[in-house]
Amino acid sequence: MGPGVDLVPSSEIFPSQAEVVVIGGGIIGVATALSLARRGIKTVLLEKGTVAAEQSSRNWGWCRRTGRDLRELPLINESMKMWEGMNRLLGRETGFRQEGIIYASRSEAQRERHLRWIEEARQHAIASEMLSPAQLSQRIPGLAGSLSGGLWTPLDGRAEPQKAAPAMAIYAMALGVNLQQYCAVRSIERSAGRVSHVVTEHGAISCQSVVVAGGAWSRLLMQGVGVDIPQLKVLSTVLRTRPVACEVKPCVSFGNVSLRKRLDGGLTIASSATNTADITPDSLRFLPSFFPAFWHERKSLQLRLGQRFIDEALRWRPGQPDKVSLYEQVRVLDPRIDPAVVSKMLCNLKRWLPSSDNVQVAQSWGGLIDTMPDAIPIISATPGVPGLFLATGFSGHGFGIAPAAGQLMADLVSGATPIVDPAPFRLARFSQGEKVQAQHWL
Ligand SMILES: Cc1cc2nc3c(=O)[nH]c(=O)nc-3n(C[C@H](O)[C@H](O)[C@H](O)COP(=O)(O)OP(=O)(O)OC[C@H]3O[C@@H](n4cnc5c(N)ncnc54)[C@H](O)[C@@H]3O)c2cc1C
Repeated sequence: MGPGVDLVPSSEIFPSQAEVVVIGGGIIGVATALSLARRGIKTVLLEKGTVAAEQSSRNWGWCRRTGRDLRELPLINESMKMWEGMNRLLGRETGFRQEGIIYASRSEAQRERHLRWIEEARQHAIASEMLSPAQLSQRIPGLAGSLSGGLWTPLDGRAEPQKAAPAMAIYAMALGVNLQQYCAVRSIERSAGRVSHVVTEHGAISCQSVVVAGGAWSRLLMQGVGVDIPQLKVLSTVLRTRPVACEVKPCVSFGNVSLRKRLDGGLTIASSATNTADITPDSLRFLPSFFPAFWHERKSLQLRLGQRFIDEALRWRPGQPDKVSLYEQVRVLDPRIDPAVVSKMLCNLKRWLPSSDNVQVAQSWGGLIDTMPDAIPIISATPGVPGLFLATGFSGHGFGIAPAAGQLMADLVSGATPIVDPAPFRLARFSQGEKVQAQHWL
């Protein structure tokens, strides 16, 4: 089971039409709907389960410029400005705190990579710096073990995933967004080639535009309109502890384990070095495009062949308007985790912070990350399908960038000047024979 998420009541009246329908009540769909509503655009937000029940509540909560793909830096800079004013704008607590992020450098090679990233990021006015081992120990009280320093961005921050998207959704509704939960979209329909309506389990809604922000379900939703996107899912494990006395203020990654303070006094502990990729029919199909990323991650990525292969082979089919769909059968993706991964993370944490020996695990959960071959999202119109837009594939770092990603999506839908150059996020990059590749800075 995932962590408890702040509840958002649905709108009372089921709408029959809208200017824009947004599919997916994760933080990307919510941020898009909010941004559309701020422009006075009549928007309906549809969620098959409840707001933020999938990735958007299960993530670590890091709002990070540090070590990001350079193509995302203009967008994350805009997003961080928005996070800074978010609690004030919403009149609610999202948990946003700007206490910095540190990535420890565990080898000379990694330190070199961090230094090169700092140089590149400077061109985007990002003030990151390299900490010496002594400075690292000052920032991380109780640190043990030898490290070559750390990449430090003081103006990065964190927010509470179980609060942020719900708070944004409530504000969006106050601006006029109609939110329907337990309302799966079965299919996106066209008339004379352009998007005309969506069919949900509760009836049809006519509209001029549709935004697909379905996280790990986006590939299936797009398959329903005959558009093939190369998207896979990766399982990541997270745990939260009971309240602890911890003086570490920034979010910290030691490579094999990461931690951040929570508003409730506990820690969120996780690791990107213990991810699992289930082998599925799609992973075999997309092997050539994902191979470079897979090869880079081979030491930290565990491959698993099991029930998911059979499930996806037999059940993962796009919805049909007149039949109960998979989206209704699986209200919330709640992947099974391996308890050994939890023990390993705690063991690694104890190695770096011996005082964490007595932390008590309150809960652990899994989240399925929607990932692209170049590990940057699609925020784009869909060539050949007028009225259809897509915001997906945030590849494990969509929470921090969500406010500006939502704004960019709303810019593209409404025809406004885009907040940043949208070219890196074009869907067409996968069909134009471009070399798409992930950047690895951390
Ligand atoms: C373990 C983990 C750790 C992470 N850590 C971080 C981090 O520290 N910082 C960071 O920036 N990012 C992080 N991320 C990534 C971040 O959580 C995601 O990029 C982001 O939440 C994606 O938001 P989303 O709205 O696109 O997707 P989701 O939150 O997955 O939402 C998609 C929604 O669409 C709904 N939906 C799908 N199909 C339909 C349908 N047919 N009809 C109606 N609704 C539908 C789903 O039910 C779901 O609620 C992490 C992710 C995970 C899993």
